[in-house]
Amino acid sequence: LEINLNPISQSGQDWSGLLIVLHDITAIRRLERMRSEFVANVSHELKTPIAAVKGFAETLLAGALNDKDTARSFLQIIFDESERLNRLIGDLLELSKIESKRIPLQFSPIHLQPFVTNCLNVLNAQATSKDIKLSMDVPSDLFIEADEDRLRQILINLLSNGISYTPEGGQVSISVRHVPSADGLAEADQVRFTISDTGIGIPKKDIPRIFERFYRVDKARSRVSGGTGLGLSIVKHLTDLHKGTIRVQSEVGVGSTFRIDMPLIH
Ligand code: ADP
Repeated sequence: LEINLNPISQSGQDWSGLLIVLHDITAIRRLERMRSEFVANVSHELKTPIAAVKGFAETLLAGALNDKDTARSFLQIIFDESERLNRLIGDLLELSKIESKRIPLQFSPIHLQPFVTNCLNVLNAQATSKDIKLSMDVPSDLFIEADEDRLRQILINLLSNGISYTPEGGQVSISVRHVPSADGLAEADQVRFTISDTGIGIPKKDIPRIFERFYRVDKARSRVSGGTGLGLSIVKHLTDLHKGTIRVQSEVGVGSTFRIDMPLIH
């Protein structure tokens, strides 16, 4: 709260009253704090891979280069960490573009069955390497009006998280349904995307925060899976841009379900 005290003076008198102006600056302060936290987070996230690249390169230069096996494993780490940096910077640019609304969506009709098949194909290798079964259930005649690249990004992010946070041998599935509006107006029809996994789940207390930038339930696990901590934040923004809603249901040790409802036409 910011308080301004202004004496009200009348001619000839010192003052005859006091004007008290109360400004609620909580929202501004909160924004300022969020921004500085964000900058601190970005710096930290960028520094971690850079420190690894630098450290391993130094060790190689100091002599580890002579041992072929050591050299190979260090170079692999350097390569992986550079990839992480690349992903991080890509996600940050993407997020900043979306947040500043500099990306006009290109709406077009999308035939959902082949579209979802294509998304799953992209993730096949990631799933196979963990022996995870991917499955889909999409009506053959369903179309949606959406931005194709952005919708792909949403689905791939959620499916990829499902695979990352599910132990070997588990399952990740996606189903898509047409949800007619209750009042019979075709303009208000929705399409519901449901992405479920049989993974580690998300503790109740963390659920409200997982869409925040860089928020992770378990930092170590997210790092191992190559996550940037920005995926769900991007998903949330892209869903908002499509005037959609996203909801999460999860139980620790059982699995998680992400559900997105989006208008069928725009
Ligand atoms: P990350 O790059 O760390 O995966 P995200 O923004 O995609 O970042 O997700 C934020 C956090 O939410 C993750 O670090 C993880 O803790 C949790 N999370 C997301 N999806 C799932 C899921 N399907 N199952 C369990 N936890 C999840």
